[in-house]
Order: sequence, then structure tokens, then C-alpha cells
Amino acid sequence: MRQIQMYDTTLRDGCQAEGINLSVADKLRIAQRLDAFGVAYIEGGWPNETNPQDQEFFRRARDMQWHSARIAAFGSTRRGGIAPEDDSNLQQLIASEAPVVTIFGKTWNMHATDILRVSLEENLRMIEDSIAFLKSHGREAIFDAEHFFDGYEADAQYAVECLRAAQRGGADSVCLCDTNGGTLPLRMYEIVVDVLGKVDVPVAIHCHNDSGLAVANSILAVQAGCSMVQGTVNGYGERAGNANLCTIIPDLQLKTDYRCVSDEKLPELRNLSWYVSEQANVPHDNRYPYVGKAAFAHKGGMHVNAVLKKPESFEHVPPEAVGNERRILVSDDSGSSTVLHKLEKLWPGLSRTDPIVADALNQVKTLEKSGYAFEGAEASFELMAKRLRGELPKLFELRGFRVIVERWEGSPDVYSEATIRLRINGDTEVTTSWAEGDGPVNALDAALRRVLRDKFPQIERLKLTDYKVRVLDATQGTATAVRALIETTDGEAEWATVGAHENIIEASYQALVDSIVYGLMLHAGEEA
Ligand SMILES: [Zn+2]
Repeated sequence: MRQIQMYDTTLRDGCQAEGINLSVADKLRIAQRLDAFGVAYIEGGWPNETNPQDQEFFRRARDMQWHSARIAAFGSTRRGGIAPEDDSNLQQLIASEAPVVTIFGKTWNMHATDILRVSLEENLRMIEDSIAFLKSHGREAIFDAEHFFDGYEADAQYAVECLRAAQRGGADSVCLCDTNGGTLPLRMYEIVVDVLGKVDVPVAIHCHNDSGLAVANSILAVQAGCSMVQGTVNGYGERAGNANLCTIIPDLQLKTDYRCVSDEKLPELRNLSWYVSEQANVPHDNRYPYVGKAAFAHKGGMHVNAVLKKPESFEHVPPEAVGNERRILVSDDSGSSTVLHKLEKLWPGLSRTDPIVADALNQVKTLEKSGYAFEGAEASFELMAKRLRGELPKLFELRGFRVIVERWEGSPDVYSEATIRLRINGDTEVTTSWAEGDGPVNALDAALRRVLRDKFPQIERLKLTDYKVRVLDATQGTATAVRALIETTDGEAEWATVGAHENIIEASYQALVDSIVYGLMLHAGEEA
């Protein structure tokens, strides 16, 4: 068993990603989560006067407790032709007081001569004495060999000479960067093996995903002998992203003898991945390996049957190893095993021959033809099953609704109002409510809540958190359908409901009603 150090650069390289902007407070929260998870290094940013936010990060990080991680500041080697102590970039790295400083330098000859416009000899001196400067200030110094693999292909001897310059300067480790993400795995392996025979310091790997190979290349680099992996949570990073630590960590930890974090921490991986996507305010990708919502979702009927008998028949690792869960999706091509498994959650011990199994299966198939999809709308499935079994009291009955959307010449405003009439709790009286809203569905929701509020004060606890619509392709002989998906929370639980119809308002109404009925069912009998 060999420990591989995880170096997280979500807060620096990850923030280069399109659409990701983190405040200092977000960064500190993410850093604390990473520390609790057990990564070895957290790169917080590039502290200099053009990045006051990053300076602020290091100022605040100084006074915080870090348990597993060392905080790293990122910057570059000194400029050409000056002494390191005169280089303001290096001075500010020292001033950040980060215990670890990672600096990148050129290892591709063309970059030194044509981009930096310094001689190859001066480039070597820049690497060596910048590192020596950091060491003279007592810092752990990591040399990031930028464009190392391209540099190696152009002039392998010079690229390695750059690493040796860092080593002479006293670097604690050197990191081989596939900056353009263009290297293929077997070549990566060969180059790493060659480099390891030529330097005497620990070697790290930093891959980008431009060829879709950042994870594969990182794994191969470790198998070739690298002892540190740089990457980001969820693979965030510019262009096609960085190496995804949420894939690399379980790959190494569950399938090889390498260890990245302690075994007790690994089941927190899924939550870490979700937490960071929430902080970054980007949707969590269902298809992320290990941590995605669909990573252990089974849909095909035969697969479902098999996986319920023997999980390993269709799962490469147990979902709980990374804190994820197995999901059995209800869908048109699934057999009764899928539906039975879902129903057993509602009625433990339910027999396969219970009529509800066939009834629910038929109902699912019928509804799916009209555009329903219960994947990700478990609450609607549950209500449907309970309704079929007669276990769902009829809280209210729709007598009708009207939704008006208006816009007039000369005004950019679009006005929406809704009126709804319901018969509540079997009363003979019909109650009508009217409300305006930001849009037609919002107005309908407001009217529905207003009319139900007196009888069901618990409705105040329910809050819509997401509303999505999807236009479905018309199939033979049917009109185009719209599917509405609504997510609701009561502050603790969250549930999703679905509706489908040719008319977007009706589809949304169905999902809305399910969302409210489900919430009222959870809080039956409560005051508010
Ligand atoms: Zn990078």
C-alpha cells in the first residue's frame, strides 16, 4: 500500500473554468471541506496585486485550522534578467505566508525562447534561483513544469534539464504538467518512467482533459511512479477541464494498492462533489463516474433483476463505497422487478404477485406513452401507487382553472394571472382564488396555495426550488407533449414531481398538484 498525495487545485485551476466564479467565502468553505475530506494540499490561488481576492484568501486561511491539508500559493518563476528577491511576484508569494509555494516555469524550449524571449540558459537559472529563493524563506517548494510533455517531445534533454534545475534549487517535488492536455496514455507512461530515472525528487502529475484522457493519464502516471496527483473536484478547469479527483481517488483507492485518503473518508466523496458543485452554482452532472446521480442507476429490466440478486453483476464497485446509492429507474423498458423494488420501499415485504405490482406497471407504461418519466420524480411515482391502492385521501378536487397572460403595445411587461376553483376535503362548496405571478405557472401556484392555505396551513412550509420543462418529440399520431418537472422542499426533505400534457400549463399543474399533495402528506395533521 502506497500513499499518493492529492493536490487539489479547484480553487485556482478549477476557477479558470467557464461559468465558475467563487467568492473568497466560497473558496474558504470549499477548502475546509477538502481538508475534512483529507486531501494533502489545497492550492488557494495566485496572490498578487491583480488578484486581491486571492490575497484575501491567504490572509484569512492563515488564521484557520487545517487538519490534513497544507495550503499552497501558486505563482511563477521570476522574470528574466532580475534577481529573485527583486521579483514582486515571488515577494508576494512569500508575503502570502502560505507554507507551500508552487511555481510554474517553462520546460518547452520554444516557450522560453519565443514566448518569454529569454535564452535557454537564463530559463534554467530562473527556475533554479526562484526555487532556491522560496527555500531560503523556509517554504515547501513545488516546481510545476509547464508544458512538460510537449517540451519533452520537442527536446527531451532540455525538458529534463529544467527539472534538474528545480532540483538543484532545492525543490521538494516537481510536477509534470500536460498543460495542453494532448498526451496519450502509453506515451505518458513512457515519459514518466524515463523522467523518474533522471531526477531524484518526488514527481507529481498535472493533467488537462483536452483529449478526454486526464483521468487515464493521471492513473498511468501514478502507476509509472508519480507520488502526487494534481486535479480538481468534478474536473472543473478551463477548456475541457482538469483531471477529476472525484474519479481518480476512487479509481486508485478501490482498484489498486494506492491510498489517497483514509478509507473512512471515501464514502464522503459523493457529498464533496455535490457540495462543490452547489458552491460553484453549476448543475451536478448525472453522468459523473462514481458520484453522479446516474452512476449506479439501473433501467433495463434484465439488468435490474440481476443487480437486485447480485449487485456486482452490473456494478463495478458498491455505490456506498463512495457514498452514492443504487437507483432502480422506472421506465417503459423495465419489467416488474423495477416496479416491485420501488413498491417494496413503500410497502416492505410486498409480494411479487400482489395486484398492485401489475397495476402500477401498467399505469407506468400508459403514463410514459403520454410523456411522463418517473426517473427523478419519485414522489409522483409514490402518489400514483398509493392512489392505485386507494391509500391516498382526496384532499381536493379541481373544478377548473383559468390562466391569462397579457402583453400590450408600448410595454415590455408580460402580465400573468390565474384563477382556480377547487372542491376541498369533499365539501360541497367550491372555493375560488385568484393570484398574479411572474409567469403563468407561478400565478397558478400562487392561486393554488391561496385557496388551500386555510384548510392546510402546512402548505406555507413548501417551497418550489426548481421547475423545468422539456418538449418531447411527437410520436406517431400524437401531438407534441410537454413534460414538467418540479422540485420542492419543506426545508428538510426534497422531492420531485412530474406532469405531462400537450399543454404546458396543464403539464405544470399536474406536477404542481403532486408536489403539494406529497408535501401535505408528509406534514399531515401539523399546524404549519
Ligand atoms: Zn493546469
